[in-house]
Amino acid sequence: MQLERCQSRRDQLTKMREQLVEYGQRATSVPRLYLVAKLAGCDVLHFAQYHSMLGAHRVAVSAGQLYPFGSPSAANSARKHGMLPHRTGCFFCPCCVAEQLRDVGASWYMRKHHIEGVDWCPSHKVRLVQNHAKDPFATRPEDWVARQATSLEHLVEPVVVDEFQARYAEIFMQLLVRPSPMEARVLNKLIGDRFGYARATGMTSHKLLSDLVLSMCDSAWATEHFDTFDCKREGLPFGPLDNVVACRSTYVTGTAYALILTSLFANRKDVDAAFEVATLSGKIDSAVIRGERTSDRCESTDSELWLAYIGAGGNHSEVSRQMKCSVASARYRLVRQGLPALNGIARSPARWRALSRFWVGEHLASACLAEAVDQACLERILRVCCTRVERAVRLILFGRRSTRKAKGTTRGQKAAVQNR
Ligand SMILES: [Zn+2]
Repeated sequence: MQLERCQSRRDQLTKMREQLVEYGQRATSVPRLYLVAKLAGCDVLHFAQYHSMLGAHRVAVSAGQLYPFGSPSAANSARKHGMLPHRTGCFFCPCCVAEQLRDVGASWYMRKHHIEGVDWCPSHKVRLVQNHAKDPFATRPEDWVARQATSLEHLVEPVVVDEFQARYAEIFMQLLVRPSPMEARVLNKLIGDRFGYARATGMTSHKLLSDLVLSMCDSAWATEHFDTFDCKREGLPFGPLDNVVACRSTYVTGTAYALILTSLFANRKDVDAAFEVATLSGKIDSAVIRGERTSDRCESTDSELWLAYIGAGGNHSEVSRQMKCSVASARYRLVRQGLPALNGIARSPARWRALSRFWVGEHLASACLAEAVDQACLERILRVCCTRVERAVRLILFGRRSTRKAKGTTRGQKAAVQNR
């Protein structure tokens, strides 16, 4: 099929779909990126990972969108970002083009030349040349050079790149080859921990992540390439960067993540190693949150858990020992049922007496005043408590037996009578 003879992009898309239908495949609603991959005879997953800029557009996403680039489930994001370069304009490196012509006899555009903030070729350290043609990606680099009545040698202009920008390009190229996005919760935790470590060890004195980034990069370069960076003022929070540590579930742009990682890590290999560890621990955390750790999963019924909770005085670790499961698994089950840890109940009975007053109808403020406890502390407890906690507190503090346990005893007594 000669796609080059098409009159327009729409014409090209139609021809691509017709060709796919001839191959006996579904063509409607298939993203253009997937169509190109199939027509090129490539595996779509491989093509999306190595020939698109999805890795730059989608560095991190929420847990529900963790699909590999190029998979059928990721079709929506491929439709939106699959054929988009990361920066405006069409660029090429004259040295790369010369190598392509020498080795293959034809030239093409490369994704490493379309990263926002990287105006040079990361391989040859020469300034990128912009193709100003009307439909630049439809014109091969060597054709455009020939039309300009110049030569590739004349376009070579070496540049001196500062250390931060060189590391930024290196880290961004590593983000590009990832097979799928990272979970925002995992990546944000990694960044938060790394920033916290840098502060604790005195590597940085900045309280805000955005201040650290501002202090490390050339502000003129950052302002030129990153939207709204000129709004950043030292000492004031800057949402596009600081949201990463302020909110674990929020994800920011690929450019913001690359800037942050460049500020926190010495090189690409450190980022790689940290990603590997973070992804692994993130998977374990997710499994614990879902209660899926098979070896120490809490298998007890809700009523068994309730009795263990009362018996353990609301101590989650003690419950896990009684149930013979991991603390994380027991805690997950208990918290999901609205049964928080009551470890301090014996040490601070006034707090629980105030809650008892509130549960029998007294106003929260007057209950706190009467028992001389902090109202904010009680409000924090109330936010995570279910109504059964009132009963649990009564049983733990005053030792009254629950009706459920009494029923169980009755059933046991009946069985004993029958056995006689
Ligand atoms: Zn190059």
